[in-house]
Amino acid sequence: MLSIVSTPIGNLGDITHRAIETLKKCDAIVCEDTRVTGQLLQHLNIGKKELISFHGNTDPGKADVIVNHLKSGRHLVLVSDAGTPGISDPGYAVISRAAAAGIPIEVIPGAAAFLAALSGSGLPINQFVYLGFLPLKKGRKTLIESFKNEERTIVLYESVHRIERTLMEIAEALKDQPDRPVVIARELTKMHEEFVRTTVGQLATVASEITKKGEFVVVIGPA
Ligand code: SAM
Repeated sequence: MLSIVSTPIGNLGDITHRAIETLKKCDAIVCEDTRVTGQLLQHLNIGKKELISFHGNTDPGKADVIVNHLKSGRHLVLVSDAGTPGISDPGYAVISRAAAAGIPIEVIPGAAAFLAALSGSGLPINQFVYLGFLPLKKGRKTLIESFKNEERTIVLYESVHRIERTLMEIAEALKDQPDRPVVIARELTKMHEEFVRTTVGQLATVASEITKKGEFVVVIGPA
């Protein structure tokens, strides 16, 4: 059996009871960075566990090795460094191969940065489009241009290195819609959590002034 376990996105208090129980009873944990997961286990007072690393640079063939562990009857847990496995992280490859191999899968839900950002954004969220990280080159401009006609709220992830550039590009592409709301959620659930509530018209100024530290989710209201 494969248990997909969400872990906190910053505040360790956000781990669930089911997540702790499942981490305790499993045979091994598939994770991104073994140091990050090791620290979480230490915080939870969970003794030594076998950790199997599977991260962005791992040979995709390793997913098959993990599926072989599952086929042999082992109970594995899949976690990411933070949040929900498979949401813009390498967990997807393991989950899709396990599903294709007919392995029983259970989910232990919890934090995901895009959900926390959406719910705190104050923007309409009955319908939304999750875009993850924007492509760096191919298709990037066309995708950002397409925001002009998107009638659902858009939510995307951005790294500290590119947040200013991305906000500038959104401001330029949507300059004909200056009143359209934008919310930048930074450091969610952590000590310096903030929601910067602004508009496309103000976005270039906000982009140059925003604290360029930590992790970011960008939420853009509907056209
Ligand atoms: N699996 C994770 C999830 O469920 O949200 C996302 C992993 S993705 C590799 C990392 C990105 O998620 C960061 O670059 C940032 O955009 C967003 N993120 C993660 N934690 C965050 C936080 N505490 N505050 C704001 N954004 C966060």
